[in-house]
Amino acid sequence: MAYQTIYPYTGEVLHEFPNASDEKLEETLTVAHRLYQQWRQEKLATRKPVLHRLATLLREKRTEMARIMTQDMGKLLTEAAGEVDLCADIADYYADHGEELLQPVNLPSDSGKAYYLKQSTGVIVAVEPWNFPFYQIMRVFAPNFMVGNPMILKDASSCPASAQAFADLVLEAGAPVGSLTNLFISYDQVSAAINDPRVAGVCLTGSERGGAAVAQEAGKALKKTTLELGGNDAFIVLGDADWDLLKKVAPQARLYNAGQVCTSSKRFIVMDNLYDDFVAMMKEAFSHAKLGDPMDPETVVSPLSSKSALEKLTAQVQTAVDHGATVVYGNEPVEGPGFFFKPTILTDITEDNPIFDQELFGPVAVIYKVHSEAEAIALANKSSYGLGNTVFSSNVAHAKEVAAQIETGMSWINAGWASLPELPFGGIKNSGYGRELSHLGMNAFVNEHLIYEPYQN
Ligand code: NAP
Repeated sequence: MAYQTIYPYTGEVLHEFPNASDEKLEETLTVAHRLYQQWRQEKLATRKPVLHRLATLLREKRTEMARIMTQDMGKLLTEAAGEVDLCADIADYYADHGEELLQPVNLPSDSGKAYYLKQSTGVIVAVEPWNFPFYQIMRVFAPNFMVGNPMILKDASSCPASAQAFADLVLEAGAPVGSLTNLFISYDQVSAAINDPRVAGVCLTGSERGGAAVAQEAGKALKKTTLELGGNDAFIVLGDADWDLLKKVAPQARLYNAGQVCTSSKRFIVMDNLYDDFVAMMKEAFSHAKLGDPMDPETVVSPLSSKSALEKLTAQVQTAVDHGATVVYGNEPVEGPGFFFKPTILTDITEDNPIFDQELFGPVAVIYKVHSEAEAIALANKSSYGLGNTVFSSNVAHAKEVAAQIETGMSWINAGWASLPELPFGGIKNSGYGRELSHLGMNAFVNEHLIYEPYQN
């Protein structure tokens, strides 16, 4: 497996990293396990200043770090800089709230005094994707660092420079060696790590295929997992939606990060009275979305992350068209060398179209017309995924009632997808299980250790 930075705007190989040896993996496990044992004797308050320093370093080196991400996977520099800001906020959040979130929890009982401790469990293996090279790592690193679970990172082979830069920054912030070790390892080495008794759990963000493979290995080894997988999020537009707000939100909800977001709005489900206007509005917006140099602040749509991502999306859209989809806009090749996919709008996707239940990981909006709210809800739920969902309506209370009927992990009202340190992130069905961020994410790999003292009479 080659760990390489291939700049998606030019196709140039910018960096190559050699794979880590088995000896390096063994040494990393030893150091991380020793650190776990040391942390069990220390107060977690000692780790708090390190996360604050990490946040400060991220803010100081904002553009430098953003450039590394842009070169690895092509995202807009402006979006990469926003990602750095969010990472700094996550680090600050867990530094500020870690102690409070890890306090013992009292358990009312008539038979005695009971509470549970939230304790660390051991080394965690983190398997992370390329679409948010820093944010994906921070989501799992910051809470586990406070808990006292050292982490071994296996990041996507297509964004090695970002993973290494993140790990280097953690050390620069003053974290002990072993807190987060980035390793350029193979799938077999990931399996070996999962099977090692010093490893307590595995978190993975990525595809269903990758998630199932890693979770299967972890299941055999009786290791806990959390999985953050793909999505085919609905964006429901009810008949009374605020048009001005909708115009601002809907195109961006699909085009941000060139559509390569697990929670991008991928299926726009629009009430019949607004359907024609909505399709025209999206077409107008997509036709003005400027493709180009991701380092240029004027660019709206960056290249896709890799040649293989471009080939996969091209084939999926062709399949959709072969099975009767209408191309309202786009689906034309863009001159290279960058891995660009022209923003595309598809309609008339029927349930028997193979694409109906597939994630399209790029700037492709699928729009459906519905004639009732019940039809909108049923269509939104007709998916093997259940990650995010948006409901647009001028009647906020009603929008929340509709949202509650969607089988999904997260719903946003009159807004596109969002992620904040204090809000849980995760899905159901084939979108995975477990939650990251917030207090829920902090509990993912803690030992809820019961202490019980029964009354004696
Ligand atoms: P992927 O192929 O599953 O890769 C994700 C990570 O898993 C990479 O580090 C990859 O390494 C590794 N991996 C894959 N198979 C493995 C195996 N058998 N053993 C060990 N490691 C393995 O996913 P992707 O296609 O790059 O990522 C995009 C997907 O992630 C999309 O479906 C997206 O929706 C999802 N995603 C979900 C969330 C969420 O929070 N729910 C957030 C972002 C992205 P290599 O790179 O070396 O193959």
